[in-house]
Amino acid sequence: MASFLRITLFLIISQFGFAQIQGDIRVYINNKIANFPSEDEFFNVPSENDLLIWEQGINEIFEDKIALANNTLNQLNYQIIRYKDTVFQKEYFVIEEFESQNKYWGTFILNFNACRRLIIQCPHPKHDTNTGSQGIYCFQKLNALAYFVSGIHRCQGHDFSPCSGTTKTCSTESNPFKDSDNAHTSQSVFQRLTTILNDKWNQPTFIQLHGFGKKESDPYLILSNGTKFTPEDDILPLFQENLLNQDSLLTSKIAHLDDWNRLIGRTNVQGRALNATENPCLDYATSVEGNFIHLEQERTKMRKDSVGWNKLYNALSQTFKCDPFLSNSTIQDNNIILVTPNPNYGIFTIDGIDINLIIIYNSFGQKIKTIHSQNEIYLPKSGIYYIKIITSIEKYYKTVVVL
Ligand SMILES: [Zn+2]
Repeated sequence: MASFLRITLFLIISQFGFAQIQGDIRVYINNKIANFPSEDEFFNVPSENDLLIWEQGINEIFEDKIALANNTLNQLNYQIIRYKDTVFQKEYFVIEEFESQNKYWGTFILNFNACRRLIIQCPHPKHDTNTGSQGIYCFQKLNALAYFVSGIHRCQGHDFSPCSGTTKTCSTESNPFKDSDNAHTSQSVFQRLTTILNDKWNQPTFIQLHGFGKKESDPYLILSNGTKFTPEDDILPLFQENLLNQDSLLTSKIAHLDDWNRLIGRTNVQGRALNATENPCLDYATSVEGNFIHLEQERTKMRKDSVGWNKLYNALSQTFKCDPFLSNSTIQDNNIILVTPNPNYGIFTIDGIDINLIIIYNSFGQKIKTIHSQNEIYLPKSGIYYIKIITSIEKYYKTVVVL
């Protein structure tokens, strides 16, 4: 904890119209969790109009109009920070509430230079001890796409959430979840950002970190996709194997494979939305997509300190391979392959010897076109694209700008 004080943060309002900070993103986030609102402060449920403004701000970030997005989000008492992580030499966008808070909707990090198609969500950083710190630890080392953390304790809502499910978490008798519980309320920016990123980044994997008090009959880890169905592409057996390899004493269950029903996140609204449920607040998923992982973890083996966090990091890094091509910084340029004209207005040609395959990605690493011939290429939307060109001898990378 003393390291909090030793790290110096630099905050300036730049000519770009939004704040820039540098430091260690782990320290920055852990500080926020340590300074959670006191017990007499309450979550404020966003209105439908708030959520529309939020969505507009996020869309503007994806259009690379950061100053505009910042202005939009300012209407919600939120701002965008360009955060330079000096530990890993990375730059992120942090979406956070101003220091004088009244919403407590949470803090969100977007990483446009990620190498893993993973999003880490921590809806209960306080109640599920250390899951927020564990999440940012893994996010930083994994070079993941995004990190979500709630801004208030799950029980600090004025009202109950209208969504399904009950809990004894916030009272002695069983009650509905509170509206401050981001995993159990769909009227939230946490939920809205989940569906936006799922759409924009073409179904990346969302891993949601939870913690539970282990009963004797419980395993140390409970893995679920939010349903009891088996997806076509089931990542959980491999993830489970990689987790168990970290510690010979760990035990685990997978909800849909081991007929396990306790703490499997079937009322979790992010899981329901990602599993294509039309009304995630009220309805169970009736099918499964496979890109939501609900992970329940016992404390001493997984959450207590960085020894446990590192088990999760190792298992995730082995399960989800780092693809450097997701990152803009590794694009190589050369004169063997020619893209003309570049920049262009959406029509261009690629010329070179022995081209077998051309694969076009958008600036978020999403594959949008595979082409076998060398005819004119047509891209209707403006933006930056990354092109992998495979010839009979080499692979080449090109960047093309469509105006
Ligand atoms: Zn939880």
